[in-house]
Amino acid sequence: MSSTHNVPDSEKTKKPRFIFVVGGVLSGLGKGVVTASIGRLLKSEGYSVTGVKIDPYINIDAGTMRPTEHGEVFVTDDGGEIDQDLGNYERFLGQVVPKRNNITTGQIYLSVIQKERQLKYGGRDVEMIPDIVNEVKERILESANGYDFVLVEVGGTSGDIENMVFLHAVRELGREYPCAYVMVSYLPYLRNVNELKTKPTQHAVCKLREVGISPDFLILRSEIGIDEPRKWIIEKRCFVNKENIIDDPDVKSIYEIPLLFEKQGLGKKLLAKFGLKPRGNLSEWKAFVDKMQNAKKEVRIGIIGKYVSHGNTEHSDVYLSVLESIKHAAAHAGVQAKIEQVQSTILEEKNPKEILSCFDGIIVPGGFGSTGIEGKINAIQYCRENDVPFLGLCLGMQTAVIEYARNAAGMTGAHSTEIDAKTQYPVIGILESQKKNLEDENYGASMRLGAYPAVLKKGSVVHGLYGKENVSERHRHRYEVNPDYIEKLESAGLVFSGTSPDKRLMEFIELPKHKFFAATQAHPEFNSRPLEPHPLFLGFVKACGKK
Ligand code: GLN
Repeated sequence: MSSTHNVPDSEKTKKPRFIFVVGGVLSGLGKGVVTASIGRLLKSEGYSVTGVKIDPYINIDAGTMRPTEHGEVFVTDDGGEIDQDLGNYERFLGQVVPKRNNITTGQIYLSVIQKERQLKYGGRDVEMIPDIVNEVKERILESANGYDFVLVEVGGTSGDIENMVFLHAVRELGREYPCAYVMVSYLPYLRNVNELKTKPTQHAVCKLREVGISPDFLILRSEIGIDEPRKWIIEKRCFVNKENIIDDPDVKSIYEIPLLFEKQGLGKKLLAKFGLKPRGNLSEWKAFVDKMQNAKKEVRIGIIGKYVSHGNTEHSDVYLSVLESIKHAAAHAGVQAKIEQVQSTILEEKNPKEILSCFDGIIVPGGFGSTGIEGKINAIQYCRENDVPFLGLCLGMQTAVIEYARNAAGMTGAHSTEIDAKTQYPVIGILESQKKNLEDENYGASMRLGAYPAVLKKGSVVHGLYGKENVSERHRHRYEVNPDYIEKLESAGLVFSGTSPDKRLMEFIELPKHKFFAATQAHPEFNSRPLEPHPLFLGFVKACGKK
């Protein structure tokens, strides 16, 4: 369902234009959203755009990272387990981004060391400059092929030891290709003097200049928005023209940011820097944002997760793509989604009805391990028995199968072998291809990953929603419905409404008589776009809005 930008052969030799996005002062400013928003501006102007994210950590990818620390692991069509920022690139650009567009320090060093072992450097010293820097440049250029614009976001902030080689690499690319440097920085608001302070940004720009980069544009995050005196100071001290200082105050929704930038002429100013003319507008995007903001009717949706709270904090980015998918669907269904995350362990201690009756619908998202699993099962039982709309994603489908087996098909104690290896009814078992990976402790990039096709049963609920029989969704899991129990579950009323083309793997389940009860082994949340909401989420949100 996602539209890919297919590069015609004649374009493949085109010299790319780069927009490098770097950070100042602190992390967590939303540099990824800024990068994605710039991408949207240029795409809406009729240019082809792709995005590359550089993460300075040594991990090869985000797949082995704890969600509570690093947030969601985004999965690409081609099976990458990558940084969540790339999810925003896909959503804002409305196109697929391949896994190679997420570069990490680990990947760069691994590749250089492998080349060294293969004598690819002809026996000379292999060094940071030029070899590591060249590797980074090559990787960026590989992703650039054929696009009018390549946005490259360098993780971290100026002055970090970790991103030094990456800044060197983008400085060199900037000498060889047409480019613009954009720095995203922060202006803290001091209440006692009632003003935004510019000094940290001044220092951040100085740090960037130490590696030979002067920003062409400054995008300044703040609580309250920048005023003229502050712009004047920054222009004088950071050597950035006032018209290229872009105000980026806190807003309600990230989807407003392209519009906020457009009002300040950012797209046109960037195009002018490259000698290009504007040739489009953001009207489609604006229509989506208007729909999102104008919807009056509220629907309350609960997400039952294991990674909800951590110490004293609530996580907002562990189920990021699920949250965004609900928002896309809500806008198109003309409702306001009020989303709440519920720690699943609570549903093991308290009566689920007490906690869940305030919701119009429940989503059980993906997850790993045993914590809170019974709470998820209790939530699903509550939905099934009370005709409350339910959508299950990956582990959410596995727990729905377990719940049905236990409470509707007479298999008391049924479970997934991930949680209970000795269960009498292993209705969820390990994928054959995964056994050895676990035995060998081969955990990185070794799950069933990326896009797989599925065939939907004609006349089923999911078939009606997708409006077609053949679909493709992204996966990230090791376990699946155990084929030995399918007949028994079916005769108890559970419908397997989608399978792999060879019918071996169960990809969708549903209960047709229910208001909405559907689940998938896949992660459809990675395919939802603001301008193209995902049919499953749309169906679910619409059902939540029905009395
Ligand atoms: N832990 C389950 C599995 O590996 C589900 C994974 C998920 O929800 N992404 O199969």
